[in-house]
Amino acid sequence: MTAYDPNNIFAKILRGEFPCYKVYEDDHVIAFLDIMPRTPGHTLVIPKAPARNILDIAQEDFAHVARGAHKIAQAAKQAFQADGMTIAQYSEASGGQVVFHLHMHVMPRHDNVGLLPAASRKEDPKVLEDNATKLIAALAAL
Ligand code: 5GP
Repeated sequence: MTAYDPNNIFAKILRGEFPCYKVYEDDHVIAFLDIMPRTPGHTLVIPKAPARNILDIAQEDFAHVARGAHKIAQAAKQAFQADGMTIAQYSEASGGQVVFHLHMHVMPRHDNVGLLPAASRKEDPKVLEDNATKLIAALAAL
């Protein structure tokens, strides 16, 4: 497998070199909105530890990401009045991965509404700001 590239876009977000709509941070993970959401509120949870994907991440680091995704899902259900949730993690190009810093997708779902295709539409910044505000408030209320 190719080595981890510290110049990938999510590594730059982690180092504060590139902006994001951050909704959550603890000692081990950060969570921020996907700027090309497949559903309203689509959020990415990433480890602070450098890892390319499921194939090289340490078990404990992945457990932190899973705990973060659980928290985001609980809050997103409230924030977006979701009926359900889709959680996804793609590893390597053959697995559908495009950005090579491990991330877990948390996508709030509504009855009879499909997922948009991946990276098909850049969301309006105002919508992203509003969704981040809603999610941060729901996380505070957990
Ligand atoms: P993957 O296919 O690697 O699992 O998904 C990468 C995700 O990152 C996609 O859903 C895409 O919309 C999202 N993405 C790509 N570039 C950026 C970016 O600069 N900022 C944010 N917040 N999301 C991004």
